[in-house]
Amino acid sequence: MQFDLNKFITAAKKPFTASFSFDLSGYDWPGYQVPAPVAGTIAVTRTPQGAEIALNAEAAVKAECARCLAPVQETYQIAQQYTVRPVDLEDPDFELPLDEDGLLDVEELVYQEIVLAVPRVLLCSPDCLGLCPICGKRKAAGCTCQPAGEAAPADARLSILKQLLS
Ligand SMILES: [Zn+2]
Ligand SMILES: [Zn+2]
Repeated sequence: MQFDLNKFITAAKKPFTASFSFDLSGYDWPGYQVPAPVAGTIAVTRTPQGAEIALNAEAAVKAECARCLAPVQETYQIAQQYTVRPVDLEDPDFELPLDEDGLLDVEELVYQEIVLAVPRVLLCSPDCLGLCPICGKRKAAGCTCQPAGEAAPADARLSILKQLLS
């Protein structure tokens, strides 16, 4: 979805609003998936300085817990506002994905905002105990392994020997 921001800033008489649903499943996501279409709205209004953009979207993210590999599903809300001045349309370093003609790539913008919104490390729960280093099972699932050293019951003969030696 392309929005002609250049034309809007110079000529629009009315605000612009649109709903969208983007299939972003094929994008390059850092360590998770966004399999379902991302739905949202974009609203653009003219201001004395240029334009105000309001972006809203909801993304369902699927991943594996970084500690125990259990499936994680989390929904993130995007609610962002941007101010655009005519001079920004000429700026190659401007934060919004605009081409040289002032066309805003709304799909790319939604992708960028999701990447910023989703934490780098996803966990099934904030206090996930991870996997047991002995049996490889999830600790939360009730593994009964004891850390090495505490596990073996004291050998009765050895303790008698210790008493004799002391
Ligand atoms: Zn976990
Ligand atoms: Zn275990």
